[in-house]
Amino acid sequence: MQEITRVEQLKQVLDEVRCSGRSIGFVPTMGYLHQGHLALVGAAREESDLVVLSIYVNPAQFGADEDLDRYPRDQARDLRMAEAASVDIVFAPTDEEMYPGGLKNQCVWVDPGTLAESLCGASRPGHFRGVATVVAKLFSMVAPQRAYFGQKDAQQAIIVSRMVRDLGMPIEVRTLPTVREPDGLALSSRNVYLCDEERGQAAGLKASLDRALAAFRDGERDARSLKGTVLAHLLETAPVAGVDYVDVVDLETLTPIDGQIEGDALLALAVYFGQTRLIDNVVLRTV
Ligand code: AMP
Repeated sequence: MQEITRVEQLKQVLDEVRCSGRSIGFVPTMGYLHQGHLALVGAAREESDLVVLSIYVNPAQFGADEDLDRYPRDQARDLRMAEAASVDIVFAPTDEEMYPGGLKNQCVWVDPGTLAESLCGASRPGHFRGVATVVAKLFSMVAPQRAYFGQKDAQQAIIVSRMVRDLGMPIEVRTLPTVREPDGLALSSRNVYLCDEERGQAAGLKASLDRALAAFRDGERDARSLKGTVLAHLLETAPVAGVDYVDVVDLETLTPIDGQIEGDALLALAVYFGQTRLIDNVVLRTV
């Protein structure tokens, strides 16, 4: 496994890979790897000749009062895990490599438009503009055939897929299912922030979504009622959690649905345990 920090070197190495006709699978991450990340690596490994994993905590997607400085980092452990998962190249650039001259020098941004207006985009203004921009940069640096994202961050996966479509990027975006702890909690680098009480209650997120999913499968199509089911169950199972949002949105446009659900939809939530913000979602398929 090769560890690369410079864009120039990455391009050289990957040019050779492309010249030899080998395909590249790409897994972008912010590091502090867990089995969710490794599931993406596993899929990339199966479908591509060479697997590139990036580790970059992107300052452009954190708000001023968010956890950029305390975001968990452990590069040595990440490198060990990546190597064990048969990653070929870890690309771990510095801020200067990604934003030469600093963020203030970044003039052109990728704007996800209305896709960033609901769910996490509403609570974290500018977040998805930062995500789309850094993913576009990474895509042009790595130029993979395929890139892998997790359903846990559903809005991100939808925005990246749409960016690729709207900007004509020659990349296949794959979205893989959320990997969970045995009690249902979605794996997340941020789970390490939780104290024992919070960790115990965090299982309530998926349990609440599942309650609503069961009601949906039984024929409930009223979005408000499904949200009410989630909120009521959260109150019971995760009383220390502060709800940021529970919402139903159209699966393609991410437009909020308040009345009847007619097409495929996404039921998503974000809650705070103290300072720690966790997200989760389930897809509501109408057919
Ligand atoms: P992050 O390092 O949190 O930015 O995540 C990097 C990639 O891993 C994103 O595409 C995430 O959606 C994906 N990911 C994070 N957690 C999980 C999970 N529990 N299951 C599947 N994919 C995940």
